[in-house]
Amino acid sequence: MSNEPLPILPGATLGILGGGQLGRMFTIAARTMGYKVMVLDPDFASPAGQMADVHLQADYTDHGALRQLGAACAAVTTEFENVPAASLIELANHCRVSPGAQCVAIAQDRSHEKSWLAQNGFATAPFALVYSEGDLDAGLADTGTPALLKVARFGYDGKGQARVNSREEARAAFREFGGQPCVLEGFIKLEREVSVVLARGDAGECALFPVAENRHENGILDVSIIPARVPDSLAQEACAMARDIADKLGYVGVMAVEFFVAGGKLMVNEIASRPHNSGHYTLDACVTDQFEQQVRVLCGLPLGDTRLMSPVVMVNILGDRWQNGGPHWDALLAHPNIKLHVYGKETARAGRKMGHFNVLDADLDRALRLAEQMRRAL
Ligand code: AMP
Repeated sequence: MSNEPLPILPGATLGILGGGQLGRMFTIAARTMGYKVMVLDPDFASPAGQMADVHLQADYTDHGALRQLGAACAAVTTEFENVPAASLIELANHCRVSPGAQCVAIAQDRSHEKSWLAQNGFATAPFALVYSEGDLDAGLADTGTPALLKVARFGYDGKGQARVNSREEARAAFREFGGQPCVLEGFIKLEREVSVVLARGDAGECALFPVAENRHENGILDVSIIPARVPDSLAQEACAMARDIADKLGYVGVMAVEFFVAGGKLMVNEIASRPHNSGHYTLDACVTDQFEQQVRVLCGLPLGDTRLMSPVVMVNILGDRWQNGGPHWDALLAHPNIKLHVYGKETARAGRKMGHFNVLDADLDRALRLAEQMRRAL
C-alpha cells in the first residue's frame, strides 16, 4: 500500500477506472486543479481517455494494467459501477482507493442492493429475488402486478428491465434475460422521483448537494429540476436517508441515492457508487461541482461548499438528436444562461448519453420553460 500522505496535493497523479462521461468530467476537474490523470478503459476512443494525461487501454481485470495504474497513482477512484470488486481490492494493495470494493459490490448488484437496503431498514418498492422460474410465482404474490423484472447486474438506463402483467409474461421475460439472477419489483405509481448526491470523507464528514427532482423517459433520465419541487420536510428526509445510507455503508467518496415519491413517502430506488447524471447541474449551479468533490474526497481534502448559486434545470442530450440533421447547437448557444457540455463520443446511438445542458435562471419556472423550449428546438 502506498504511504502517500493525505491530503494528496496538486502535482500528484490520480487514476480512474472507466472512461465514460463521468470519468471525463472527473478528469477535467482534476486537471483544472493541477493533478495528472491516468484513465483505465478498454475503449480506444473513450471520452475520458481524450482528456487524460495517460490512457491505459486495457480491460478492468488486466493485472498488468492494474499494477501500472496502482504504481503511477497516489489514489484511484471509479466512475463505472460495473468495475469488478476484485480489481478494486487488487488496486488497494498499491494505492489509496475510494470508494471501497465492498460498497461498489453492493451498488453494482440489484439483489445485494435491495437486500442490504431492506436489512438496514430503508423503505423500497416491494421486491423479490429471482434465481429461477420457480421464484417468480412467490415473487409475484409479494409484488402484485404490474411488476418490473430487472436483471440484477449490468442493467442501466432502463435496459435489462421488463414490465410484466402476469405469470406468463414474467416467465417469458426471465427467459428473455437468459435466466440470469433478477429482482422483481412492484410497479409504483410515482408522484415524483428525486435524488441526492453526497460526498462522505474518511472521518465520516458529509456534504450533500441540494435535492434534485428527476423526470425520466423510457427509463433514462431526461430532465433534473433544482431545487426539487417537494415539501421541505420531504427534501430533508431524503437528505437524512441518503446520509444514513452512506454512514451505514461506511462509504468514502461521492455517491448518489435515487428515490421514488409515492403517497407522499420516500422509497429508495437505487444507490450509485459514483457521481450521478442527476448531479450534472452542480457543474454550473453550485460553488463546488460533484467532480471537484470527487477529487477532493479522493485526495483527503476538506469537502467543498455544495451551496446552490442559482435555480437550474438540466436536460440530457441523447443520441436520438443526431437523426434528421443533428442537434441545432446554434439555437441552444444563442442563450447566455445555457451551459452546454458535450462528451466527445464518436458514435451517436439512440438512447446514448451524448451531452447535457444546464439552464440557469433566478426564476425556476422560467428556467423550466426555456429548457422545454430548447429540448424541442435541439
Ligand atoms: P432504474 O434503472 O431501476 O433506476 O429504473 C429507471 C426508471 O424506471 C426509474 O427512474 C423510474 O422512472 C422507472 N422505474 C423503475 N422501477 C420502477 C418501479 N418499481 N415502479 C415504477 N417505476 C419504476
